[in-house]
Amino acid sequence: MPATRDLIERSFGARCFDHTGMTELGPTGVSCAARDGVHLIESEFVFEVRDDAGTVHSLPETGTITGELVATNLGRWGSPLIRYRTGDRVEVTRAPCECGSPFAKMLGGIRGRVDDMFTVRGVNLYPSQVENLVRRHAVIAEFSIEVRSVRGMEEVTILCECQGDDGEAAVSQLAKDLRLALGARIECRQVAAGSLPRSDLKSRRLRRV
Ligand SMILES: [Zn+2]
Repeated sequence: MPATRDLIERSFGARCFDHTGMTELGPTGVSCAARDGVHLIESEFVFEVRDDAGTVHSLPETGTITGELVATNLGRWGSPLIRYRTGDRVEVTRAPCECGSPFAKMLGGIRGRVDDMFTVRGVNLYPSQVENLVRRHAVIAEFSIEVRSVRGMEEVTILCECQGDDGEAAVSQLAKDLRLALGARIECRQVAAGSLPRSDLKSRRLRRV
């Protein structure tokens, strides 16, 4: 995720490149010098995209397609997977990349997990969209998106652990940022440092409670 990558680069003085993959499939993609996305390794896979209605499409020659990445591996002896649903939400394009790669590109990398979508008054949102706004506030050290179902509607609260004394200001600014950028009114609340569960490798920011 770009905001998280920038944070790592600032903290470590390093240049970060994304490398996607899954245990089941093997490595599926790698970012190039352009660093605005991740190229799919099409010499090893047939990639398709499943749209929100459940239809699976080949990658389009023009424009972009958004949905769940579906992969069929070509070179894994003893472990073939056919039309494997990765659960990763992506936007893919075949527009030429300045690096010269012939492979299609996932714009902005993996945008999130398809099963992590939540809805705030009719607006469909993904944790990665929230994370990109949270990372603008260095004071917010950790966050979690809590979703509870109340009479068939999803009620969402963003819990933030803060460092330093400006926590309240950052958290109320985050609520404004969410409203402006995503058009969603979401309650944001500060919680005690160390009280939120830590994410593992595949960021699980969303908790249904
Ligand atoms: Zn490229």
